[in-house]
Amino acid sequence: MPIVRLDEATVRRIAAGEVVERPASVVKELVENALDAGARAIRVEIAAGGRELIRVQDDGCGMLPEELPLAVERHTTSKLRDFADLARLTTYGFRGEALAAISAVSDFEIASRPPASGHGARLRVRFGKPGRVEPVGMSVGTIVTVRDLFATVPARRRFLRQDVTETAYVQRVLAALALARPEVRVEFVVDGRTALATPGSGRLVDALAGVYGAETAASIVPLEPIESGEVAVHGAIGLPAVARANRQSLFLLVNGRWIESRTLVAAIEQAYHTLLMVGRYPIGVVAVSLPPDRVDVNVHPTKREVRFADERAVAAAVHEAVRRTLLSHLPAQPPPAVTFSPLEPPVIQRRLLVADPSRVPPPPPVISPAAPETGEAPSSAPPAEGRLPILRVLGQVRQSYIIAEGPDGMYLIDQHAAHERILLEHLLDQLATRGVEQQRLLEPLVLELTPQQLETSVRYARELRELGWEMDPFGGTSVAVRAVPAVVQRNIERVLTAVLDELATGGRGTTPLERVAISTACHSAIRAGQELSLPEMRELIRQLEQCQAPNACGHGRPTVVHLSTEELERHFGRR
Ligand code: ADP
Ligand code: MG
Repeated sequence: MPIVRLDEATVRRIAAGEVVERPASVVKELVENALDAGARAIRVEIAAGGRELIRVQDDGCGMLPEELPLAVERHTTSKLRDFADLARLTTYGFRGEALAAISAVSDFEIASRPPASGHGARLRVRFGKPGRVEPVGMSVGTIVTVRDLFATVPARRRFLRQDVTETAYVQRVLAALALARPEVRVEFVVDGRTALATPGSGRLVDALAGVYGAETAASIVPLEPIESGEVAVHGAIGLPAVARANRQSLFLLVNGRWIESRTLVAAIEQAYHTLLMVGRYPIGVVAVSLPPDRVDVNVHPTKREVRFADERAVAAAVHEAVRRTLLSHLPAQPPPAVTFSPLEPPVIQRRLLVADPSRVPPPPPVISPAAPETGEAPSSAPPAEGRLPILRVLGQVRQSYIIAEGPDGMYLIDQHAAHERILLEHLLDQLATRGVEQQRLLEPLVLELTPQQLETSVRYARELRELGWEMDPFGGTSVAVRAVPAVVQRNIERVLTAVLDELATGGRGTTPLERVAISTACHSAIRAGQELSLPEMRELIRQLEQCQAPNACGHGRPTVVHLSTEELERHFGRR
């Protein structure tokens, strides 16, 4: 074939493919134009994933009627005069190609009115063929309407995905621009329904709420600002709890421009290392600022990728900012090598184990508002030695240990040992005062015991009865249980046989009565491996806080281990 010069329409269509890939790229170009025009409010509307309709309306500086035909030509721009300008570019656009490309592959209309004009003008361009400029009544700004995108380019139209997917791409574009420019009000309407709206308050938190929803935005924290060399990093990132299953909710900005960069995404994900489960990805917006001559924005037709003079320095700064922010917001996770020290030696407080009927609980400390007789300053009673501080429950580990935060660091509480301690003190308190609370069974529970268990039940009948266990021989090795201690709320058979076995082999406690009490408390307590709700954990901690000796169970094992703030900091090399 002989070489010929392609006609203008063909050249345009070929070029359009570079800039206009899908509805989202159209929206990106149009919204960037609106921002370049100084818009304070931008409304984007699409129908059928952008295939049928894309309309972008702004309140920016507008254009004069005679500028409209120029604007839709190729290489026409008001933003650049020569190549040297590229290095100091402050606008999104500069190639002067977008309107030409979009109007070549759609039924396109641009209507615009500058503030000085009393009315606007519009120009329709149908698939590359411009009509005439006509006057039109409209408010100040520009409205671009794109219909039937790619109707004359079947190959490209076939390549489009389902409407929901194309809509999601558009939404991502608008989210990025809304986050880049919190001072601009952005509204996105999909098939008549508002899908995203930011207030244009100028505050990033408001833009985050508009993009992610208020609930998720509450878990997005400001980046600790970093300035290293020529690179500054700011923005906001989501805590691990609000990570997503894909990478679509993380936005990178370089000098206010939304870009894609595998390197920077990798640097951010690396900062979340060990904090995110496999297959979960960070969300948020990370904005890098650096001198314009340290980054080349002209390496990609849609300006989606940039080239850094020193990419490693940028990646390092981004990593550092994200990592620091995460560490300052997350509860510390002790490495497995940490050895916890018990709060105090696990010694059973003997005086609590003496069943002395004359013992009454000490009266609450009375604080007189003024003590004129002695002249001493009134003081609140200091917390008793070994008492627990007020704790805030954070969660449960291995369904066995409760994690809590106290005034000085972290506490791990063994749920079984703690409950055992609580029940034991209840029992001892009741023994010492009004007698152990008992629960009568509606019908006697007949249990088959081993000969040894039967013998133990007879031998310690008096102590068992004092603790609330009431049973009679029921022929053979059976007993009929008529009443149980009120602390035994279920599994009566299991608890009683365990108590009898423990009594037979000795167990802890100096007197048989103590041994029955300790054993009953132990076997009635919640066990390790039982999932507890947050309210249940809080109640358990509240009761433990009220114990006289909260730090050891009846068997002398620790109930609480404490890692002080100082120790925490030492473990992480902060001291
Ligand atoms: P570029 O943005 O690269 O300059 P475009 O083809 O996107 O090229 O736009 C061409 C020109 O049309 C712009 O330089 C600008 O002068 C004008 N223009 C486009 N959109 C708007 C708008 N929303 N408001 C005001 N002027 C606009
Ligand atoms: Mg443009």
